[in-house]
Amino acid sequence: MKVIVLGAGVIGTCAAYYLNKAGHEVTVIERQGGAGLETSFANGGQISASHAAPWASPEVPFQMLKWLGRRDAPLLFHFRLDWRQWAWSFRFLINCLPSRARKNTVDNMRISLYSRELMPEIREDTGIDYDYRADGILEIYENQKDLDAGIHHSAWLRDLGCDNRVLSPDECIAVEPALAGSAENLVGGILTSEDESGDAHKFTHELAAVCAARGVDFRYGEDVRAIETDGDEVRAVRTDKRSFEADAFVVSLGSYSPLFLRPLGINLQVFPTKGYSITVPITGSNSAPKVSLTDQDNRIVYSRLGDRMRVAGTAEFNGYDTELDEGRARSIVAKARERFPSAGDFDQAELWTGLRPLTPDGVPVIGPTKYSNLYLDTGHGTLGWTMCAGSGKAIADLISGDAPDIDLAPYSVERF
Ligand SMILES: Cc1cc2nc3c(=O)[nH]c(=O)nc-3n(C[C@H](O)[C@H](O)[C@H](O)COP(=O)(O)OP(=O)(O)OC[C@H]3O[C@@H](n4cnc5c(N)ncnc54)[C@H](O)[C@@H]3O)c2cc1C
Repeated sequence: MKVIVLGAGVIGTCAAYYLNKAGHEVTVIERQGGAGLETSFANGGQISASHAAPWASPEVPFQMLKWLGRRDAPLLFHFRLDWRQWAWSFRFLINCLPSRARKNTVDNMRISLYSRELMPEIREDTGIDYDYRADGILEIYENQKDLDAGIHHSAWLRDLGCDNRVLSPDECIAVEPALAGSAENLVGGILTSEDESGDAHKFTHELAAVCAARGVDFRYGEDVRAIETDGDEVRAVRTDKRSFEADAFVVSLGSYSPLFLRPLGINLQVFPTKGYSITVPITGSNSAPKVSLTDQDNRIVYSRLGDRMRVAGTAEFNGYDTELDEGRARSIVAKARERFPSAGDFDQAELWTGLRPLTPDGVPVIGPTKYSNLYLDTGHGTLGWTMCAGSGKAIADLISGDAPDIDLAPYSVERF
């Protein structure tokens, strides 16, 4: 079958990889000059299957009130005269209800665990190197109330089959000695030792190269303009250069996916949520953390990527604005420098911003549409790197007429 994948982020590239493995003739259309150059470029690096809770959770509305007016607030709303943003925000608040948040966490965990299981097979099959580490993820806390809530949540996750262990401050330091310098504020941590970390851009770039060598046709520098339909099926995709026809089409355009589906009458509730990261060179320093960390109080994550330290966080609802607000990025530099002052050369930190394609329930959209040959694999929000392999395999199975290994019903676009 001839299949066209729109978008060569980590999601589209994984879909192309599995479609190629299933024997399809695959073309990927991407506006950038290479794979993984937009949101998949400099994310937090965590394959955090055990941290799959969506942002929409019972405590978030109260935290947002607490952070109101703070320029370095982890979550920042810029209220715009855009009814779609208001409708999305309303749905987000509904999903903060405890019962919804629990269901969404379970749905996210299912695809995340499945995805994590597939990563070793990809490494073995392709031999790609992406600064992968299998040291787990350590959540660290400076506030006893938050730690107690974390312990409560982690007990529930254990019941769902997610490995985790509560650690004392000393045990946290034994796991990650770089924490010794900021130990006085630490009240404890939670270690999920089966989680992983790695460079999503390196992974996407390398995987795309393997796919290209295996016959996938990457059309870089082509801007998708429209998806053209004929009755209940998609006939072609039009770019700024030409038209592409195929038997099946997969939309993996990240935050831009809904813009091409709206004219087709498909209500995909994905909204861009801006995040920031910094990448600090650590050459010559041995005091940078090696274990991937989640700083719960500051809502930032740390990942060791070879001789670099990636620190990422913050969420800003400001539409499709991709401008880098240096103040927001520098606040991450300041927090990282405060915790690990000699981890690397902070003056050389590379600042980056990207738009997470976020659904109001925090659950991705993977599956068919009302058009018989149009499929969606998008809306992975805060967890696209964590869920990439599972999403790609599931969509390839579906298109191939095989039953996916996991039930895709919770990820349907029909839920909106
Ligand atoms: C600060 C930050 C930290 C994060 N940390 C983590 C983390 O630790 N772990 C985790 O699992 N996830 C994390 N994420 C989320 C993760 O990075 C995303 O979910 C993931 O990258 C989304 O991948 P994607 O392929 O859907 O989107 P993208 O990577 O944006 O890919 C979409 C592609 O479509 C292309 N495209 C768009 N429009 C067009 C068009 N008109 N024509 C042609 N091509 C087009 C784009 O160029 C792009 O390459 C983080 C995100 C951010 C911003």
